[in-house]
Amino acid sequence: MAAPLTPQDQAYGMLSERTRRRMTERLRQHGVSDERVLTAMFEVPRHLFVDQALATRAYDDVSLPIGHGQTISQPLTVARMTELLIQGRQPGKILEIGTGCGYQTAVLLKTGAEVYSMERLGAILDQARKNLRAAKLVHARLVHGDGYLGLPEAAPFDGILIAAAARAVPAALVEQLAEGGKLVLPLGESEQHLWLIEKTAQGIQKSRLDPVKFVPLLNGRG
Ligand code: SAH
Repeated sequence: MAAPLTPQDQAYGMLSERTRRRMTERLRQHGVSDERVLTAMFEVPRHLFVDQALATRAYDDVSLPIGHGQTISQPLTVARMTELLIQGRQPGKILEIGTGCGYQTAVLLKTGAEVYSMERLGAILDQARKNLRAAKLVHARLVHGDGYLGLPEAAPFDGILIAAAARAVPAALVEQLAEGGKLVLPLGESEQHLWLIEKTAQGIQKSRLDPVKFVPLLNGRG
């Protein structure tokens, strides 16, 4: 059973609600307009997904270390990628590659998506499971595996979000998109951009979007 909340916890809870509201306003000013995304970003307690020592910085628009050389993406990037994925339709079934601390997973769940999330590092995935439980979000399917291969047994997906930078679009993932489905991913090495790949009846459409900075997508399970 969870320990009862101390007055400090309660004060922090209120503080984090206020800081989350400010964070959401900042996202709006930076062009995030989908209310489902803004509500999800407001509702997910981001401080539960970072190390306690960094909790006071959880709502700054920065990426933060989550151990094992990995980082939690900055709030604007999480919001932007979520918006690109679900814009103008129901979120449906989403595959996330690179669970990390589980924050992006939590935001996707809050938009109402059915979420599958793959992570290659077992220790990171265990931490994500704990973080999601602490945030009372337990209905994602977390899979320890190589995201390059995707999850053919659960395909097709309405959306796929990759949270690590690939050098080229992973073919297996495009294969696992439903018609009308969208893939959002960072591409590149030292210079990276977000790309939106859409699978339409006429073929694959690709658009290059904002410059970003992600850790690399690596091969195999760790
Ligand atoms: N969205 C995450 C950030 C993830 S950082 C968050 O909110 O915290 C990128 C993650 O991708 C790392 O945890 C890394 O281990 C994982 N990763 C890298 N290559 C992968 C692959 N091929 N398959 C699955 N996960 C991968």
